[in-house]
Amino acid sequence: MNDLIRDRIRGCAVGAAIGDALGMPLEFGPRRSADRLVREMTPGRLPAGSFTDDTEMALALAESLLAHCPLDPADLARCFVAWYRAGPPDVGIHTSGVLSRIAAGAPWDQAAAAVQRQKPDAAGNGSVMRCWPVALAHRDDLESLLFDSRLQSQVTHPHVECVAGSAWVNAVIYHLLRGDAPADAVARALDDAAVPAPLRAAIETVPTSSRDELVLRQWLGAPHPGECGLGLAHH
Ligand SMILES: [Mg+2]
Repeated sequence: MNDLIRDRIRGCAVGAAIGDALGMPLEFGPRRSADRLVREMTPGRLPAGSFTDDTEMALALAESLLAHCPLDPADLARCFVAWYRAGPPDVGIHTSGVLSRIAAGAPWDQAAAAVQRQKPDAAGNGSVMRCWPVALAHRDDLESLLFDSRLQSQVTHPHVECVAGSAWVNAVIYHLLRGDAPADAVARALDDAAVPAPLRAAIETVPTSSRDELVLRQWLGAPHPGECGLGLAHH
């Protein structure tokens, strides 16, 4: 691995954790106006500089990939449950529902399916926010990257848009690691990940949409896998 790739890989991992910690005080709060950007680590539900479940779950995914690559979903479920049992300060409602069932003995696929059946349209961002370690582990193999990105989503978030959103975000990272311009990476990843038409249409309108238009369409400020990725496409 050359120094440039190593630097980009570190940038992805550290950037994800820093972005999570910067956003921590804003989680679950009212939307801020665009002229009040966050530039400092400030306290919120957690002390200033703390990252949240996004990074905690990404680290659990990274631990699992270090032990099993390609991804072993049963091992990933064990890693998530170990984190869940340690009593983290914030766990998403959907994720909590799945992990509590696995902790009680259910196989991961049955647990995820049972929670999805309760709310078939539930498509939170829980599997997208944590997916980046798969992109780093499979940085030279797009096919494995897409497969394991989808699989890590299915362990807790089997909804088609969560699965596709995870594959798309990691495909974007794949192209960024190669030095593609962000707009090119976003477009190529839409084809790579075969993103379903409604999600694809939403992503494609982001660069020309204002923040208010995105909120009106419920793509920002709504619990949806598009949320993370759309932020990515917007910048
Ligand atoms: Mg979080």
